[in-house]
Amino acid sequence: MVYLKAVEAYGFKSFAERTTVEFDQGLTAIVGPNGSGKSNITDAIRWVLGEQSAKSLRGARMEDIIFSGTEKRQPLNYAEVTLKLDNSSGLIEADSKLNITRRLYRSGESEYFINQAKSRLKDITELFLDTGLGKESFSMISQGKVDEILNAKPEERRHLIEEAAGVLKYKKRKKETAAK
Ligand code: ATP
Ligand code: MG
Repeated sequence: MVYLKAVEAYGFKSFAERTTVEFDQGLTAIVGPNGSGKSNITDAIRWVLGEQSAKSLRGARMEDIIFSGTEKRQPLNYAEVTLKLDNSSGLIEADSKLNITRRLYRSGESEYFINQAKSRLKDITELFLDTGLGKESFSMISQGKVDEILNAKPEERRHLIEEAAGVLKYKKRKKETAAK
């Protein structure tokens, strides 16, 4: 198992201050009034894992995820989120302490880091393939997803099973090889 220990956010949506949300072993429930930022936490996790659709992060443009200011606070120039993962089981081909960071500037410039080393989105996607932790993996079940799975076509449902079985990585590599 890979275990998400903490999400550290700065300038991401409502997180104007550097904020750390820690997850203990077991079940964590996040509660709070409407609009207090609960969904922003899951948005932050999906964003680091490579979410490219502003719409699915509930914005119009990707820059909308950068803290836009309030009456009392200036907007910020960039957003940064780090996922702190415990990979001591070795499920992911990486160090046992794994920090994944994504940063976005208002200019549109985007950066990814794996343990502080500058990386490409592709490296991050590959790291999480078949681990069940990718941005569209079965470990993120959003509102409406259950219905979607139940109503899916057999081929679409197969994608989920293939990820759980750990064969997506090979399918992706096969496709890449065929394209060369
Ligand atoms: P609900 O219970 O209604 O689902 P929630 O706790 O999930 O609410 P979120 O949707 O996570 O709430 O947070 C919405 C809040 O985030 C809103 O107050 C919105 O103004 C704020 N927000 C979103 N994007 C930004 C941004 N770029 N800058 C500042 N605040 C933002
Ligand atoms: Mg919500």
